[in-house]
Amino acid sequence: MTAIVHPSSYIDANVSIGERTKIWHFCHVQAEVQIGTNCTLGQNVNISSRVKIGNNVKIQNNVSVYEGVELEDYVFCGPSMVFTNDLTPRSKFPKGRENYLRTIVKYGASIGANATIVCGNTIGSWAMVAAGAVVTKDVPDYALVAGVPAEQINWVCECGNVLNNQYNCTECSKQYSLIDGILERVN
Ligand SMILES: [Zn+2]
Repeated sequence: MTAIVHPSSYIDANVSIGERTKIWHFCHVQAEVQIGTNCTLGQNVNISSRVKIGNNVKIQNNVSVYEGVELEDYVFCGPSMVFTNDLTPRSKFPKGRENYLRTIVKYGASIGANATIVCGNTIGSWAMVAAGAVVTKDVPDYALVAGVPAEQINWVCECGNVLNNQYNCTECSKQYSLIDGILERVN
């Protein structure tokens, strides 16, 4: 199955869209964007020029993915969450795209509704950002962060459940270990 693009959306030049990807109403995908297979872009999503999006990514309604942002496979962007690409914007002194800061959202990570990711930070693999959080620093793999500014409040399983204090998931039985502050899956 090829990609589905609703006729109300605009796809600019030199865009690649993978098989089974669905782009719903009123989206704008700008030039030279790469979108992988089996992604979903909800209503009113903007993907800026040269952005790269992996496979199986879900982007909910009203999200703009600005130049400088990269989304790896299986990333979830909740409704109306916000990316940025300029830490100190001034209308009078535009920096130009070569000075945009990079923001990377790694494999499997989820960002809650209405959260803001300040540019220049990396969201670790399988991390979860709570709704409404403002991320101002890197988020470790498997960390659950919440608040303004966002702080880590727990660890989460790949399935999304909060881990118990032995770093095990009581929902799906995956087990993890914490070594030198880094959580790793052990089975
Ligand atoms: Zn689990």
